Amino acid sequence: MNNVAHLIEGERVRGTGREQELVNPSTGEVTATVTLADRQTVEGAIAAARAAFPDWRDTPPIKRARVLFRLKDLLEEHADEICMLITREHGKVLDDARGELQRGIENVEYACGIPGLLKGEHSRNVGPAIDSWSEFQPLGVCAGITPFNFPAMLPLWMWPMAIACGNTFVLKPSERDPSPALLIAELGHQAGVPPGVLNVVNGDGEAVNTLLADPRIEAVSFVGSTPVAEYVYTTGTAHHKRVQALGGAKNHAVVMPDADLDNTASALMGAAYGSSGERCMAISVVIAVGDATADTLVQKLREQIAALRLGDGRDNTNDMGPLVTRAHLQRVRGFIERGIEEGAELVVDGREREVPGFENGNYLGACLFDRVREGMSIHSEEIFGPVLCMMRVENLQRAMDIIDAHEYGNGTCLFTRDGEAARYFSDHIRIGMVGINVPLPVPAAYHSFGGWKRSLFGDLGTYGPDSVRFYTRRKTVTQRWPSSGLREGAQFSFPSHG
Ligand code: NAD
Repeated sequence: MNNVAHLIEGERVRGTGREQELVNPSTGEVTATVTLADRQTVEGAIAAARAAFPDWRDTPPIKRARVLFRLKDLLEEHADEICMLITREHGKVLDDARGELQRGIENVEYACGIPGLLKGEHSRNVGPAIDSWSEFQPLGVCAGITPFNFPAMLPLWMWPMAIACGNTFVLKPSERDPSPALLIAELGHQAGVPPGVLNVVNGDGEAVNTLLADPRIEAVSFVGSTPVAEYVYTTGTAHHKRVQALGGAKNHAVVMPDADLDNTASALMGAAYGSSGERCMAISVVIAVGDATADTLVQKLREQIAALRLGDGRDNTNDMGPLVTRAHLQRVRGFIERGIEEGAELVVDGREREVPGFENGNYLGACLFDRVREGMSIHSEEIFGPVLCMMRVENLQRAMDIIDAHEYGNGTCLFTRDGEAARYFSDHIRIGMVGINVPLPVPAAYHSFGGWKRSLFGDLGTYGPDSVRFYTRRKTVTQRWPSSGLREGAQFSFPSHG
C-alpha cells in the first residue's frame, strides 16, 4: 500500500514512527498509510532546516521570489492532481477544492512581491553625520502546523511567505489528509527551493510537541481547534518562541428585515453547507431580526436544502461531500441529538439522507435548527458540520450582543439594505473579519486573516502584511561616518538631538 512519507532535505523519507491508515471519506476505502513522525524524525527535519538557513538567509530576496514565481506556475499546471488529492482525502467537492487551491496560489502571488515587502525604513541625519535605518531580518527555522479542512491552502498561507522572508521551514500538515501538502512541497523543490529550506513531517501530537520544545525552532504558526491552539500558544511561548495560533469559530450572520431574502438564503446555503460546514469561516448561526424575517428564511432555506445534492466529491454535480472521518460524523450527529434534547426545533433533519452506492461514506445531509437560544450547546460550541442554527431576536442590538458574548470572534456578516445599520455593525462588532452582504468575508491575500477573542492567540494574523511582520524581526542600525581627521572628546551625557 502507498505510504505518505515525509520530505526532509528534499527527499521523501519514510522515517520511523507509528502508521495510520488514510481513508477516503466518500467511499470508506483505505487509500494509503501515513507514518506519524517520532521525535527522532522531527529532529532530523529541524536539523536539515537549521543547516539550510545561513545560505538561504543570504540569498537575495529577488532570487527567492523567482522560486515562488515558478511555484505559482507549477501549482497551476498540477492543479487537477492536487485537487484530486484534496477530494480523495478530505472529501470536499472538486470545484470547492479548486477554490481552495486558487486562494492558496494567491498567497504565493503575494509572497512573490517580497523584495518590495521587505523594504525597510530609512532616516538620514538623525544626528550629525548619523543615518539610521530599520530592516527586517528572517528569524531562522519556523514551523507550521495545519488542520485538515484546507489541506492545500493553509500550508500555502504559511511556508511561501516564511521562506520568502529568508527563513527555513518545517511543516506538519494534518495527519488526516497530508498528501496535498506533500505534493505541493515537492513542487516547491521542482521550482527551486533548495534542500532543507522546506521540510514536511507528517504526524500528530508527538511531532507537534517536538516542534514546540526544540530550541532551534524560532517561531510557530498554528491553525486548528481552539483547545489545541491555546495549548500550542502557551507551550510554544513558554519555550520562548514567537507563536500565532488560530483557533475555532462560531460565525453568525445577522439578517435584517430589509435584506433581499432570496439572495440572503442562497448566500447562507453556500456559507453554511459548502464543504459540509467544515470551514472556520462557515456561517453556523443565522440571527433573524423579527419573526417574519425568520419565518421567510426558514421556508426559503427548506426549499433550497431539499434541492441540495449530497454525494461523492469527485462528482462536480454534487454540492456537498462527506465529513472528513467517521469519528467526526459521529461527533456532529451527537450535537444534533443534544440540540433536540435542549429544546431547539430541528426543522430539517439530514441524518437520514443516503447516498446510494456510497454506503460506507461519512455522509450527513444538511440540517437546520430553528429557535436556538444562547446556552444551548449547538450555539456555544463549534460543530464543524452541515448544521445551521437559526436564532430569533427583536432588533440588531440584541443580535450584536449575542455575537459579542460568544467566546469566538472569527467572522460575521450582516445582510441589509440599510447603510447606517451596516456601518454601525461593522464599526462596533467585536469580531475580526466582517462581511456586509458578503457571507464568507475571507480577506484577500494582500490583507491579513485573523479572528478576535478565542479564535486567535497571539498578536499578528496570518498571511498578508501581518505574515511579513510575523516571519521577520526588526533590526535598527544607526551609523555614523564622521569627516576624517575630526577629533572628539568623550561624551558622558545621554545622546540626544536637543
Ligand atoms: P485540530 O486542532 O484537531 O488539529 C490541528 C493540528 O493540530 C493538526 O496538525 C493536528 O495534528 C494537531 N493536533 C491535534 N491534537 C493535538 C494535540 N493534542 N497536541 C498537539 N497537536 C495536536 O483541528 P482539525 O480538526 O484538524 O481542524 C478543524 C479546526 O480548525 C476547527 O476548530 C476550525 O475552526 C479550525 N480552523 C481554524 C482556522 C482559522 O483560521 N481560525 C482555519 C481552519 C480551521
